[in-house]
Amino acid sequence: MSFNTTQLQNLANEALIIGKTCLEGKNADYIPFLASVPPGLCAISISCCDGTIIHSGDYDYDFALESISKVCSMSLAMQQKGSEQVRKKIGAEPTGLPFNSVLALTVHQDKPLTPLVNAGAISTVSFIDAPDKESRWQMILDFQRKMMSQNVRLSEDVNTSEQETNFHNRAIAWLLYAANNCFSDPMDACDVYTRQCSTLVSCDDLATLGGTLANGGVNPVTKEKVIDHEHIAPILAEMTMEGMYDYSGDWAFLVGLPGKSGVGGGVVAVAPGKMAIAGFSPPLDEAGNSVRAMKMISHIVNSLDLSVYRPS
Ligand code: GLN
Repeated sequence: MSFNTTQLQNLANEALIIGKTCLEGKNADYIPFLASVPPGLCAISISCCDGTIIHSGDYDYDFALESISKVCSMSLAMQQKGSEQVRKKIGAEPTGLPFNSVLALTVHQDKPLTPLVNAGAISTVSFIDAPDKESRWQMILDFQRKMMSQNVRLSEDVNTSEQETNFHNRAIAWLLYAANNCFSDPMDACDVYTRQCSTLVSCDDLATLGGTLANGGVNPVTKEKVIDHEHIAPILAEMTMEGMYDYSGDWAFLVGLPGKSGVGGGVVAVAPGKMAIAGFSPPLDEAGNSVRAMKMISHIVNSLDLSVYRPS
C-alpha cells in the first residue's frame, strides 16, 4: 500500500501542532543530562517503506536513544542466536511494572521476562557473542547504525551522566548474575547497556529504525538487509507486550501498533509493511513515555486507520 506524500505531510504538520499545544509531562531527571534538554523541542517523522521520510518540527535535533536501544540489541541477539533462544533465555512476557523494577525480577526468580526492560536488556547485551566488552559495544553501535544511519554516535556527555548515576542498574546486573541470567561479567554488561542508551539520534533516524522493521528487516533508506525476515514478527511481538512499559496495554488499545519509547523523549511505532512513525519531545508521563510523541503518533495512526487489530 502506498500513501500520498502530501496527505502524510499534512498529517505530520497537524500532529506537530497537537504535540506543541500539549503541556503535560516532565523531563526525566534521574539522569542529570536529560533534565537539561529543552522541554519545548518537538518533532515527528514518518518513514515509508520506499525510503521517503516525511517530517515536521525539530526532526534533525539529536537526542538520547535510551531504551529504544533495547530494540536494536534484541534484534542483534535474535540475528545471532535466533528469536527462540532469546525468548527462552530472556523472555517474551510483559512485566506490568516500571522499566527498572526489581520487584518484577524477585517475583520471577530473577528472570527478566523481556529484553525491553532494563534487566532484560542488560541480560540481552551479555547474551550477544563477542570476544570482549569493547567488541560487544562496537557490534551494538554498528547495529544501531545499520537500523538507522551513520549519524548515530555515542554522546560522551549523556554516557558520563548515566555512568555516574546508574547504581540501580548495577544492582539489577548483579541480581541477574547471581541467578545465572547474566552471561558475561555483570559490570561489563551494565557498562555496555549504559553506552547503548547514550547514543544520539534524530527523529528521522528513529523513524528509520521503525522503517527497517516495517520493511521486513531492510533499511528503507540504505536498502541494506539488516534483520532476517523471520525475526521481524517476534521483535514486533516483544514491542507490543512491553515496548511502552506498564502503559503497553493502553497503547495497544488506543493506538494498536507495536511501539517503543525511551526516557530521552523518543517513541517509535511500526505499521508492518506500511510505515513507521517516530515522535520526539522530552516531557514524559509516569511510565516514562513522551506525552507529546504519543499524542502525535496517535493522531497519524488513527487518521490512517493503521491499527494492526482493525479488520480491513
Ligand atoms: N538508560 C535508561 C535507564 O537505564 C533507559 C530507561 C528508559 O529509557 N526507559 O534507566
